[in-house]
Parts: sequence; C-alpha cells; structure tokens
Amino acid sequence: MLKINFQYHKKLYLILMSIILFIILVYLYLHFSGKHFQIAGEKFIVCYGNVTYIGSQLLYYKEKNGCYPKDLKEIKSLFRKEIIPNCPSSNQDYFYELRNNGRAFCITCKGWNHAGFCDENYPQYSSDKGLIVLGCKIPDFVRHIQHMQSKDNLK
Ligand SMILES: [Zn+2]
Repeated sequence: MLKINFQYHKKLYLILMSIILFIILVYLYLHFSGKHFQIAGEKFIVCYGNVTYIGSQLLYYKEKNGCYPKDLKEIKSLFRKEIIPNCPSSNQDYFYELRNNGRAFCITCKGWNHAGFCDENYPQYSSDKGLIVLGCKIPDFVRHIQHMQSKDNLK
C-alpha cells in the first residue's frame, strides 16, 4: 500500500516538476528572445544614426575644404575624443568610398550586421541620397528612418 502511494507521488512530483520546468523554459525563452531583439534593435538605431552623423560631418568637411577626404581618418578631429563611431553590432569601421572622381561618397555598414532589421550592407549614407536603409519591414523603424530622412533633407 505504502509502495503504491510512493509511486503515485513520484509520478505526480515528476509531472509537477516538468510543468514548472516548462514554464521556466518558456519564460526564459520569451525573456531572452525579447531582450535580444530589443538590443539588436537598439544597435540598428545607433548604426543608422552613426552613418547619418558621419555623413553630415563629411558634408561639413567638404563645405570647409572643397572636397571630401580620401580617408575617414582625416575627419577624426570632428568627433568627440577623435573617435569615429563604428557599427555597434559588428564593431567594424564603416566602409567609406569616394565615387564619381571624389565628388560623391558613400558610407556602408558592410555585411549582415542587422539581420531581421534590414538587408545586407545597410544602413548606408551617400552624399546624393542621404540615409538609405533597404529591407526594413518593422513599421516603427520604417517610420523612424523616414523621419530621419526628412530631417536630413531639410538641411
Ligand atoms: Zn551596422
């Protein structure tokens, strides 16, 4: 009799433990996937803010010097602590290229650094088009990017 009871409790105990474990796992999954998404989103915002900021400093440099720098390092002094921001997701420097015989430029976040937020090799900032972010399908971000672009065009 006692043995049966023990078996019964053991079974109940196991079921209860597996339910609790499942709840903990679901909680952890939601918590961390949400957190991860939030952090990745923040990095994406910082990244397109960075390329826009660097782009505006390049436009400023051209106004003062009549041409764009050959290397991004030449505009170091325009940044706080002389540090040109890089992509917070990849920790890589932005790819800077001169186009049209030095009359235009483009700054690119090279690679799949913001998967789920935009396409590969975006955000970009070019002297002709300003901020470009292709492949963003998240409405709040699309609105914010459009807002940044419209602000940029007012300059
Ligand atoms: Zn980036």
